[in-house]
Amino acid sequence: MSFESLGLAPALLRALAEYGYEQPTPIQAAAIPAVLEGGDLLAAAQTGTGKTAAFALPLLQRMAAAGHATGRRPRALVLTPTRELAAQIHDNLRDYGKYVKVSSTTIFGGVGMGPQVQALRRGVDVVIATPGRLLDHMQQRTVDLSAVEVLVLDEADRMLDMGFLPALKRILAALPRQRQTLLFSATFAPAIKALALEFMREPREISVSPANTVAALVSHRVHPVDASRKRDLLLHLLSLDSRRQTLVFSRTKHGADKLVKFLEAAGLRAAAIHGNKSQNARTRALADFKSGRTTVLVATDIAARGIDIDQLPIVVNFDLPMVAEDYVHRIGRTGRAGAEGLAVSLVSHDESGLLRDIGRLLKQDIAIVDVDGFAPSQPLRLDAGAPRPQQQRQQQRPARAPKASPGSPAHRPRGHAQANGGGGEHAAGNRKRRRRRGTAAKA
Ligand code: AMP
Repeated sequence: MSFESLGLAPALLRALAEYGYEQPTPIQAAAIPAVLEGGDLLAAAQTGTGKTAAFALPLLQRMAAAGHATGRRPRALVLTPTRELAAQIHDNLRDYGKYVKVSSTTIFGGVGMGPQVQALRRGVDVVIATPGRLLDHMQQRTVDLSAVEVLVLDEADRMLDMGFLPALKRILAALPRQRQTLLFSATFAPAIKALALEFMREPREISVSPANTVAALVSHRVHPVDASRKRDLLLHLLSLDSRRQTLVFSRTKHGADKLVKFLEAAGLRAAAIHGNKSQNARTRALADFKSGRTTVLVATDIAARGIDIDQLPIVVNFDLPMVAEDYVHRIGRTGRAGAEGLAVSLVSHDESGLLRDIGRLLKQDIAIVDVDGFAPSQPLRLDAGAPRPQQQRQQQRPARAPKASPGSPAHRPRGHAQANGGGGEHAAGNRKRRRRRGTAAKA
C-alpha cells in the first residue's frame, strides 16, 4: 500500500516523501480515502498509530482544493484536549502542508489572547484549539465559526474525561450543521457513541486495532517495590543508562515536582511538565527533552497528551494511574510508528488493585520482575480484594541517600503467572475489562 494509491495530491506526497514516510500506517490507509470521500468518520485509534496524518492529510487536500473562499473565517476546526497536542498537530499540519497554501493557527490557554486575536483577524484556514480558550474567543466574538466545513474531534474520549463535554456542546452548536465531522478516540466508550449519535451524520466507523490495546511492540514490566523506595529504584534504573531519554509518569503535579528535585540533586538533568506550569515552562521543558538537554521528563497524565517524541524507547510509571485507561495513553508514548518500546512500572503493595485493573484492560500478562536490593517488604496482591491507594496519597517519604550504581541491572525475572493473590510469581489478570472511573488529580 502506498500513499499514492490513497488519492492524495502530489504536493502532499512530496512533503510526505521529504518527511520520510514511506507507507501509510493502517489507520491512515483506512481513514484517508474515507475522509476524502467527504462523509463523517468515527475512528478508533490510539496515540502513536499515525492518526494525526490520517485526518491532517485529507483535511489539507480539501482546504487546498477549495482555495481561500471565506475571507477571514476559518474553514476547519480541530479540537484537542491539551495545549501540547494542539501545538503538535499544528507542527504536523505545517510539515505535511509545506507545498500547499493552507494556513493554520493554534488557540489555547496559558498564553496571551492578543496574538491569537490578531491571527484570527488576519484570516486562517484551520484553527487547532483546546475547548476552553476557544469558548473565550467565542464569547468575545473574536472568532467566527460560521464557515467551518470540517470539524475534527481529536482524542475525544480524553476531552470527555477532562470534563469538556459542556464546552464541546456549546462549540458544536455554533458550527454550521452542514459539515464533515471526524471523531478520533482511543475507545468507543458509550459517551463517545452518544456524542457521535448526536452530532454526526451516519458516520463510517473505522477501528484499526481493538480499543484499549497497546502497541504490540511495547513490552511491559513491573518492578514491585516499597513506596518509600521508589525514588531510589528509579534512580537506579536511570543510572543504568544515563544517556537514554526517559519519560516518567507521576500521578500528581506535586509528586512530579518533588521527583524532579530529587533527580536533579542526584545529578540528572530532569524537568517536569504539568498543568501548574506556565505554558512557556511546558514548551521549554518539552523542547529541552526533545533536543536532549534534559534526559528525564516527569509528566502528569494530562500534560503528557500530545507529547510526540520519535523513538522514545522507555516510559516509566513512577506510580500507576488511578484509571486503567490512562495506562494505555501513557504507554502510547513509546513503541510509536513501528519502533520497539518498553514500559516499566514501579508498583507498591497499595497499588495492587490498580495493577490488576490494568492487566484486565490490556488482556495480557505483565512480567513482574524483582530488582535485586529493591524487593518489597509487602508483596503485590492481585486477588479481588487487592488494595488501592487513597486519592490524595502522600507520594513519597524522604528518600535515603541515592545510590547510583552503574553496572548490571541485576534483575530477577519472576515470570508471567496469572494472578494468585500471593507474594510469589504473579501477573496482572486477564479477564474481561471493567471500566472504573478514578479520581486522580488532574494535571
Ligand atoms: P500520531 O499517532 O499521529 O501521534 O503519530 C505517531 C508518530 O508516527 C509521529 O511521530 C508521526 O510522525 C509518525 N508517523 C505517522 N505516520 C507515519 C508514517 N506513515 N510513516 C512513518 N511514521 C509515521
